[in-house]
Amino acid sequence: MDLYEYQGKQLFKQFGIPVSEGRLATTPEQARTAAEELGGPVVVKAQVLTGGRGKAGGVKLADDPGDAEQKAQDIIGLDIRGHVVGKLWIETASDIAKEYYLSVTFDRGAKQPLFMFTTQGGVEIEEVAANDPDALVRLHVDPLEGYQPWIARRLVYGAGVDDPAEQKQIADIVGKLYRCFVESDAMLAEINPLIVTPDGEVKALDSKFTVDDSALYRHSDIAEFRDTSAADPLEAFAREKGVTYVKLDGDVGILGNGAGLSMSTVDVVVVAGGRPANFCDLGGGGSAEGVVDALEVITRDPQVKSIFFNIFGGITRCDEVARGILEALERLQLETPIVVRLDGTNAEEGRRILAEAAPPNLHVEPTMLDAARKAVELAR
Ligand code: GDP
Ligand code: MN
Repeated sequence: MDLYEYQGKQLFKQFGIPVSEGRLATTPEQARTAAEELGGPVVVKAQVLTGGRGKAGGVKLADDPGDAEQKAQDIIGLDIRGHVVGKLWIETASDIAKEYYLSVTFDRGAKQPLFMFTTQGGVEIEEVAANDPDALVRLHVDPLEGYQPWIARRLVYGAGVDDPAEQKQIADIVGKLYRCFVESDAMLAEINPLIVTPDGEVKALDSKFTVDDSALYRHSDIAEFRDTSAADPLEAFAREKGVTYVKLDGDVGILGNGAGLSMSTVDVVVVAGGRPANFCDLGGGGSAEGVVDALEVITRDPQVKSIFFNIFGGITRCDEVARGILEALERLQLETPIVVRLDGTNAEEGRRILAEAAPPNLHVEPTMLDAARKAVELAR
């Protein structure tokens, strides 16, 4: 789960990482009030779950409350990489002398958290990594050893920060960010930019924070951050139905039993020259109920032109799944063509059941690749 900047900053604040004071606003009037309360110049920031807001015109300085209202007017409704701005974060403007970058994330290859720090902040970190890799200090943390003060010193000296007061503040933030990362079960905690003000004060001006979905059950406060209005409505509907569903941007709807098979199904559709519209895992069962729920979710996506139903029967028997499919078709009255591939336990019986019923929009194919080709062809 990705957090908005203001939510990430709320966590930063809880862990003692310095941030500017701010207020949330959803209308220009609220932005004006926020600026009045904060006093002095403010920065009006679009709250969307994507980066590059600055470049897209989603971050603007305002001198006074009237100006804040005007800037809010400009930013609300803006489309930033497909995210329409509905919420703003208004915070006390900072003077910036330097922009650094600090993050901690998981290095899955190394199976360890990885710190990255550079004095070339503000820009996207991929740019620094590509153009000036030596400027980016990377350091793993042994999770068994835990955080040690030398880690911060290595980062700070490695990046060439030579002001002692700065070194001390950054080292302090590194330690706090690590605690925040671990204790929140985060996958990513990024501060870009981490600024130094002309007075030498170091603080987090931005926040990018991702929490492991599987750990949300033990962070009810973070789970409450979830903004259902920003979530894809289809994914929200799927969650309601208890269907494992991820929306993709193609036109072949995919339904498999088991995560591994469903992922292979996504792959084989691409191999057959098509584009998957989603990933959908029916799980172990194949009951009519489960099939109806999954098909309901998939067909709510108007981009879906055909559906590839890929089942490998193990404990779930193919004849049961076949009956589930027929019952689902009766209940849903779908017009979208469905291609079914059944294999494994009782596959022949399952195919026979489908062949006998022969609903007009149902196509049964013998292999996964044949079925993928057929589904791709039908989507065209
Ligand atoms: P992003 O573009 O989505 O990463 O949004 P950021 O929060 O990082 O803001 C983009 C840029 O706006 C920053 O790199 C800063 O240069 C600038 N900015 C943000 N807040 C302030 C502020 O308080 N004062 C000044 N002077 N610039 C700011
Ligand atoms: Mn940023």
